[in-house]
Amino acid sequence: PSALEDTDTTPNKPNELPPAVASGERMNATFVTLARNSDVWEIAESIRQVEDRFNRKYNYDWVFLNDNEFDEQFKRVTTALVSGKTKYGTIPKDHWSYPEWIDQDKAAKVRDEMREKKVIYGDSVSYRHMCRYESGFFFRHPLMLDYEWYWRVEPSIKLFCDINYDTFKFMAENKKKYSFVISLYEYVETIPTLWDSTKRWMEKHPDQVAEGNSMKFVSDDGGKTYNHCHFWSNFEIGNLNWLRGQAYMDYFDQLDKDGGFFYERWGDAPVHSVAAALMLKKEEIHFFNDISYYHVPFTHCPTGDDFRMDHKCHCNPSENFDWNGYSCTKRFFEVNDMELPKGWQQEQH
Ligand code: GDP
Ligand code: MN
Repeated sequence: PSALEDTDTTPNKPNELPPAVASGERMNATFVTLARNSDVWEIAESIRQVEDRFNRKYNYDWVFLNDNEFDEQFKRVTTALVSGKTKYGTIPKDHWSYPEWIDQDKAAKVRDEMREKKVIYGDSVSYRHMCRYESGFFFRHPLMLDYEWYWRVEPSIKLFCDINYDTFKFMAENKKKYSFVISLYEYVETIPTLWDSTKRWMEKHPDQVAEGNSMKFVSDDGGKTYNHCHFWSNFEIGNLNWLRGQAYMDYFDQLDKDGGFFYERWGDAPVHSVAAALMLKKEEIHFFNDISYYHVPFTHCPTGDDFRMDHKCHCNPSENFDWNGYSCTKRFFEVNDMELPKGWQQEQH
């Protein structure tokens, strides 16, 4: 048929999604989102971004997890937006509560102190359960056991550039296990003893520390202290089998026993990051320069005019966080002997 005959002008035909345009095999992969029912419109916005820039071409599944049951509206809105299959899981109670060895009075005192000091989320119980869940449990939810790869998506994120290749396949073919788009320094008040716990794990399991790892990304003194650099985990594309493996599980168990999810306010970002830095070879961690991303308050906008034009980006390069003094991304380049992208100095803020 000619292009003219192909042009159907029926306005707004319902329920006809465009077909997947990308040919070839799909990976065993899923998007995964932890959310409350009240997050529905914020997550709708994120899904639309991800579908428009990537997933309408690949139709990957999307798993939603919640500590309460998802309501009909949440399921209906998100199912309508996702081009792949959607699955909805409730989190088992024991994955979202205090372990028996935690002294809850001590935890409550810490929250009071953090409230005084105005530490972000410092007084929140649910935020702590969330961080612990993302650190140690999401990858072992029954719905996640079917998959090898995940891409984490949070509410109200933005993608600014077209992604014209299968990022999961990229990870597999290039032997990557973990990835990031933004890195930064963690607030020290939230993790004062995370490194002590990490050292305890290293002493018990020296064999689980990889040769050729990224210790230099997380420590400036060969492992004596943590420099607070971490990958921002509200975006992640990663390998679930790595997280489900013995080394990561031993690491998480050590942290969980030491209690810092409740006695401090350990975030899943520094936990995943330290684990990736120490138990993966440095080549197994990937910086997705070409995935342009926003989560309040930071933007990753790829350096280089030509790239941004070629990929129909709509981010403002002057908002790029990569070369900011609070970013650890330059350090990542140095650790990996990677050349900084052309023009980075001009885009330094
Ligand atoms: P921030 O990005 O650190 O400011 O934290 P968010 O509020 O975005 O929370 C991180 C992720 O966990 C998001 O995907 C939230 O939707 C989700 N989340 C946070 N708290 C809860 C909770 O109490 N229950 C559920 N089900 N999801 C939560
Ligand atoms: Mn968030």
